[in-house]
Amino acid sequence: MYRFSFYPYRRQFCQPLRTHHGAWNTREGIILKLTDKAGNIGLGEIAPLPWFGSETIEQAIKLCHQLPKQIDETKIFAIPNRFPASQFAFESALSSVTENSHSKTRLKTLLNTFPNSQLLPTGKAVLSLFDFQKKELESRFDEKQTFKWKIGVTDIKTELQWFDRLLQLLPPHAKLRLDANGGLTWETANRWLAACEGKSIEFLEQPLPIDRFDEMLKLQERYTTSIALDESVATLAQMETCIDRGWRGLFVVKASIVGSPAQLRQLCKTHHLDTVFSSVFETRIGRESALKLAAELQRVPRAVGFGIEHWFAEDDETVLRQIW
Ligand code: MG
Repeated sequence: MYRFSFYPYRRQFCQPLRTHHGAWNTREGIILKLTDKAGNIGLGEIAPLPWFGSETIEQAIKLCHQLPKQIDETKIFAIPNRFPASQFAFESALSSVTENSHSKTRLKTLLNTFPNSQLLPTGKAVLSLFDFQKKELESRFDEKQTFKWKIGVTDIKTELQWFDRLLQLLPPHAKLRLDANGGLTWETANRWLAACEGKSIEFLEQPLPIDRFDEMLKLQERYTTSIALDESVATLAQMETCIDRGWRGLFVVKASIVGSPAQLRQLCKTHHLDTVFSSVFETRIGRESALKLAAELQRVPRAVGFGIEHWFAEDDETVLRQIW
């Protein structure tokens, strides 16, 4: 039996994060705390992403209110699948009770296990970043750094011009990931993939909307650049569907919203999935739980998508201090 308490938080982005889903201003989440009889504490974080199919923050708060203040494993494993972010958070908190080890040093160690992919500003802003801050960038990132750039936010002709310019500005051995967030069409996806041929592009993420699965299978066969599914595989049920329908490419795993870690573990191991773990802009509490899973389940050495701290006005500690 554990004593259960929870702490909702709100956190402002320095500037709205622009993707094909629109502009995102505030990250809202909930920190969970489980305390056992001996006083050991386990922390978890609910960091919903409703436009990826998770519950909303309001639904998660309601769930937390409904759950008993004294909670056991049975209640935790009975959280329904329509609350994937909550399933992840409660199970993570549960497994961290015994470890009793949420700390900055622990997270640093985990982060150092992986190279980190750095999210670049969306659209044309990326070019001025590289022009004006080149010196700073060179000191901040090593030359084999992986970067990620959101595409599908303006007309393709303009974007392909920015893309060419960006490739010239990137450090010589840098790798680039492109993320369309489902914002391309069959025609523009083909143009993008043709433009990627022979370039150092690690993969193109979610070129088409989730209902265009068969076309993404075709794109995967047609070009040498790999395709990674993201929006299409946001939850465990969706991952299973895509495996059944023949997807053998990459899976972006947003651990914080995917659902039960125990079930994720089983799915990844059974099907030997090639995964790349990615953040949903959670605090270090959720990030640590997600990275622990990444360390266990990411089969091919790849940068993880957790290079996010500089996107917020306040750092993790400021957010967490307000909670305790
Ligand atoms: Mg993505």
